[in-house]
Amino acid sequence: EPKSASVIIVGAGISAIAAAKTLSDNGVKDFLILEATDRIGGRMRTEEFAGITIELGANWVEGVHGSQLNPIWKFAQDFKLRTFLSDFSNTTYNSYDNNGYIRPSVVNASFDILASGVNYASNLGTSLTTHHEEDVSILTAQRLFGSVPSTPLEMTLDWQNYDFEFAEPPRITSLKNTQPNPTFVNFGNDEYFVADPRGYTYIVQRLAEEFLTQQKGKIQDSRLQFHKVVRKIQYSQHGVRLVTEDGSIYTSKFAIVTVSLGVLQSNLIEFQPVLPFWKVEPLYKFDMAIYTKIFLKFRYKFWPTGEGTEFFLYASERRGYYPYWQHLENEYPGSNIIFVTVTDDESRRIEQQSDDETKAEIMVVLRHMFGSAIPEAEAILVPIWWKNRFFGGTYSNWPIGVDTHDFHKIQAPVGPLYFCGEHTSQLYNGYVHGAYLTGINTAEALLKCKKSGNCTYKASVLTS
Ligand code: FAD
Repeated sequence: EPKSASVIIVGAGISAIAAAKTLSDNGVKDFLILEATDRIGGRMRTEEFAGITIELGANWVEGVHGSQLNPIWKFAQDFKLRTFLSDFSNTTYNSYDNNGYIRPSVVNASFDILASGVNYASNLGTSLTTHHEEDVSILTAQRLFGSVPSTPLEMTLDWQNYDFEFAEPPRITSLKNTQPNPTFVNFGNDEYFVADPRGYTYIVQRLAEEFLTQQKGKIQDSRLQFHKVVRKIQYSQHGVRLVTEDGSIYTSKFAIVTVSLGVLQSNLIEFQPVLPFWKVEPLYKFDMAIYTKIFLKFRYKFWPTGEGTEFFLYASERRGYYPYWQHLENEYPGSNIIFVTVTDDESRRIEQQSDDETKAEIMVVLRHMFGSAIPEAEAILVPIWWKNRFFGGTYSNWPIGVDTHDFHKIQAPVGPLYFCGEHTSQLYNGYVHGAYLTGINTAEALLKCKKSGNCTYKASVLTS
């Protein structure tokens, strides 16, 4: 097993695989990928649950059918992934509160106000950017618009529009950097749900197969090593020395650190010398958000099925309390599986209680929605992202207080250390396509430095 390489890549998520492939395509074959877990894909994570394939991590290809082609959508087409167009607007007809079903006319009245507010926020975001004005939060835009969501139904529709995307509330999220959202502006408004027995991770697998050696259809390449938890990164102008948890030592000229923002904000990896303040401060200013999909299996269906029923909503007086639901009847008929999404503090709270407690809370909510006669869930799966030391949350969210200048420091290399991953994508942070594009861009910047010896870093080099 190699212990030294020209470039060592920490992590094997989609940004790492994209970076390694870019190096390989450009003739740099002596790279080494050190991954903490037992698989590639990172936050693209496919699992089996109650007989079907589910995604604990990324699930949608977001931004399809726009003026630019989303590279992930291209892969989904090329590799013939099974995908389903999501119509999130159908919650109008599928909303519930503690008294059961809410009439669509009632939902629509609230929805119309919210939609005008969303439109206002998007225009204000554009205007602030154009005039180089200071950033504000989405909540500030809502106040300026003159309508802050305040009833259970309004708060839940608000959650659906903002928290369901950014995994943090409008109080925190940057207006300028999310409204309008560059993902939808550039790649299109459509979102496709991936439900493929091979998993969303199949894309990463196929990318890896293009440059790593295989035996009997499986990747077997000593340049990709699993169960290698990097704990120490020593760096100087002469190169990099990495120490893993099992005591192995690796050396290289350069390293590409692809670990999540959550990991960089934790003390899992010790940098020697410590990363400079100009680097650490913006990293700590950025937010690692949490988005949790809780899967439940039932003996039989008691929720509506058929066209326009996929998404349903529960309006609680407690904002974000089991608010948003989805059935998998279109994707996996007869599976009798639904999942509910929670974010932020609800995710943190739920990660700290037992699955039985979570299931009990969920059953109370479902009985409010569908009546007391419904059966108990037979199985539950609660993913742990926040407490998982290899992730520390699910994806980054751009909060107020971080400007473009700060962001360029998050992207910037420190000596021989390069950084990529979704949190370094200025336009597409938080997304699979963002992570993928930063892997390519960062590898290209490194190649340029390696070839020409000219390693001065320009923020404008990184365009994703
Ligand atoms: P990662 O995938 O996190 O890769 C980093 C790798 O580093 C991991 O494999 C990790 O195990 C490894 N690592 C960590 N620490 C160490 C260490 N010390 N030593 C060695 N290795 C280490 N995006 C979308 O586009 N659409 C969606 O629908 C969507 N939904 C999401 C839902 C959830 C629940 C989550 C978690 C994410 C979602 N995302 C979605 C975001 C998307 O998954 C990520 O943006 C993307 O996968 C991140 O890739 P990455 O390469 O930047 O990081």
